[in-house]
Amino acid sequence: MRSVLVRIMLAAALVVGGLTALAYTFIYNETQSRMLDNHGDWIVERAHNDSLIFELAQENLARFSQEFLRLYTSDVVVDEETFWSYYQRGHDGAVRLRREFYDGLYADDGLYYSGVTSFIGNNQPVDDPELRRRLVLSLRLLAQLGPAMVNRFENVHVTYPENAIALYAPGTPWGLEAEPDLPMNELGVIRAMQQSENPERLPGWSGLYFDATAQEWALTYQVPLDLDGRHLINPSHDISLTDLMERLVSDTPEGAYNLIFRPDGYLIAHPAEPASDRRWVGQMSLETIDDTELTGLYHRINDATGGRPGERTLLHYPEMDAWLAVSELTGPQWWFISVYPDALLRQAANQAATAVLVSGLILMALLIGIIVYIIQRDAAIPLAQLSRAAESVADGDYDAVAEGRISLPRGLRNEVGLLARTFHGMTINIRDAQSTLEKVVAERTEALESANKSLRELSLLDGLLGIHNRRAFDRDLKSVFEQSSRGVGEFYLMMVDVDEFKLFNDTYGHARGDEVLKQIAASIAGSIRRDDRVYRYGGEELAVIFNPLGSEPPAQAAKRVLAGVAQLAIPFPESAHGRVTISAGLARGHTGCVNADELVTEADRHLYAAKRAGRNRLISELV
Ligand code: GH3
Ligand code: MG
Ligand code: MG
Repeated sequence: MRSVLVRIMLAAALVVGGLTALAYTFIYNETQSRMLDNHGDWIVERAHNDSLIFELAQENLARFSQEFLRLYTSDVVVDEETFWSYYQRGHDGAVRLRREFYDGLYADDGLYYSGVTSFIGNNQPVDDPELRRRLVLSLRLLAQLGPAMVNRFENVHVTYPENAIALYAPGTPWGLEAEPDLPMNELGVIRAMQQSENPERLPGWSGLYFDATAQEWALTYQVPLDLDGRHLINPSHDISLTDLMERLVSDTPEGAYNLIFRPDGYLIAHPAEPASDRRWVGQMSLETIDDTELTGLYHRINDATGGRPGERTLLHYPEMDAWLAVSELTGPQWWFISVYPDALLRQAANQAATAVLVSGLILMALLIGIIVYIIQRDAAIPLAQLSRAAESVADGDYDAVAEGRISLPRGLRNEVGLLARTFHGMTINIRDAQSTLEKVVAERTEALESANKSLRELSLLDGLLGIHNRRAFDRDLKSVFEQSSRGVGEFYLMMVDVDEFKLFNDTYGHARGDEVLKQIAASIAGSIRRDDRVYRYGGEELAVIFNPLGSEPPAQAAKRVLAGVAQLAIPFPESAHGRVTISAGLARGHTGCVNADELVTEADRHLYAAKRAGRNRLISELV
C-alpha cells in the first residue's frame, strides 16, 4: 500500500505540478500583458484629459482669428481721433491704453471694458492708420470675447509684427506697467511668429516658463494670422500648467512616474525633487540634460516612433528596466511619458501566478489526503483485516471469523468487500464441514467400538451353545485366580460332564444330542446367579465359575444347577437314571493353588469321583 501511495503521490505531484507550472507561466504572461494594456489605456485617457486645455486654447484662438478677420475685412472705420480716444502717449514716450479700460468703462463703441491693457513701445510709430485700426479692432474683440475665453486661461492677448501688445488679463495691468522701451516683437516667442521666422505659419507653443507674477507654471500659445500674405496679428493665450504639472507628479499609477518631453528633445517636465535641476525644467534641451538614462529614453522613443508616438505607444526600455507608455498631448504635441518599472509588472504577475501555485499545492495536498484516506478505508485496513482473518483460519480458529469476532470488511462495495464476503462464507462452510466431519467420525468411531465389542463378545462365545467358550473360560479363570492370589477374594470352579452321552448320541443321533446339549447349557445359565458364569469347556463338558461374594453358598448353587438339569426330564430310558443327567466336581480356588490348571485338575478329580460314584451327582471337598 505504501509503495502504491508513493507512486500515486509522485503521479499527482507530476500532474498538478506540471499544470501549475503551465498555469503559472500563462498567468504570469497574461497578467503582464494585461497590466501593460491597462497602462496603455490609462495613458491614452490621461493624455486625452491633459490635452483638453490645449484643444480649448486652439478652439478659442481659431474663433478669435475668425472674428478678427471678419471685423478687419468689414468697412468699420477707425480714424485718428477714435484711436486716441483709446490710447494716450505717456511721458516715457510709450503709447498705452487708457487706464479706465483696465478699471472698467463703457466706451463710446458701446462695449464694456475691464481688465484690458495695451502697450506700444516707445520706438514704435503709430502713424499708420492700418496699424491703428488693427490695434483698436483687437481691443474691441478682447472686450467682447476675452471674459468668456479666459475662464480656463491666464489671459488672452494679441501681439503684432510691430512692437505692440493688447491683453485681456483681469488682475494683471501688464500693459500699464511694461518698460517703455521693451522690444516686444524681438522677444523670442513673439519673433518666432514673424513670416521670416515662421514661413510655414505654424502656431507657436512656447516652452514652459515660471510666471513669477502669477506664481504659475505657464506657456504661451500663439497663432499667426495673415491676410493676403500680410501678417496682421498673433492672437495668444497664456496657459497655466500648474495643475497639469501637479497632476504629472501626483496622478500616476503606484510605482510609476510621468515626464514630458517635447518632440525636439526639450525636457518639459520631470517629477524630480524641487531642488533638482530636472524638476519642471521648462526648456532644458537634450544637450544640457546630463543624464544618460533620460537622453537614452528620449532616443528610444524617437527611434521607435520617428518622433510621433501617436495616441498610444508601449516600449520596453531595458536600460531602466522599465516599460514606457507614451501618448502625444494634442496641441504642443508633447510626449506624455509614463515610466512603468518592469519589476512592478513582474511582481504583480508573480503574485497572481503564486496564488495559482499555492492553490495548486493545496489541491495536490487535498488530492493526496483523499487518496490516502480512500486507500486506507477501502484497501489497506480491509486487507489487514483479511490477513488477520486468514491467519486465524490458518490456525484452525474458524469460529472467530465465522462468528465475526475478527471483523471483515464485508460491507465494502468493491473487490476487497467481495473477497471478504466470499472468505467469510468459505470459512463458515469449512467450519460446518469440519464439525459435520467430526460428528461423523465420532459416530463411526462409536459404531466401530461397538462392533469391536460385539466381535470381542462373539469370539468369546460358543457357536453351538451360545454360552462362553473355552477361551473365555481360560481368560476369566486366569483373572479370578490372579485376583484371589493377590488376596482380593476366593472363588469356586465346577466342572460338569453329561452322563453317558456317547450312548445318547448313538441312540438318538447327533442332532438330537446337540439339541439336548443346548437345553442343558440354557438350564445351567438360567440356574446360576448373576455374578456367576457358565462356559463350554470342550465337547459335552461345561465349567462354571462361582463368584463367592453372593449370599448363597457355592455348593448349594451347584446343587441347584444339577437339579435344574434333572428337572428338564429329557427321556433317556437306556441310562441308569432314565433321563439325561449331569455329574459335577466342585473345587475351591484358594491361595494354596500353584496355578489355575491345578485347580481344573482338582475339579476334574472330583468330577471323576462323581462318575465313579454312580453319576448324576456333585462331588466337592466341601460336601
Ligand atoms: P460317561 O457317563 O462316562 O461320561 O459316559 P459317556 O458316554 O458320556 O462317555 P464320554 O464322556 O467319554 O463320551 C463322550 C461322548 O459325547 C462322545 C461323543 O459322541 C459325545 N459328544 C461329545 N461332544 C458332543 C457333541 O457336541 N454333540 C453330540 N451329539 N455328542 C457329543
Ligand atoms: Mg465326557
Ligand atoms: Mg460324558
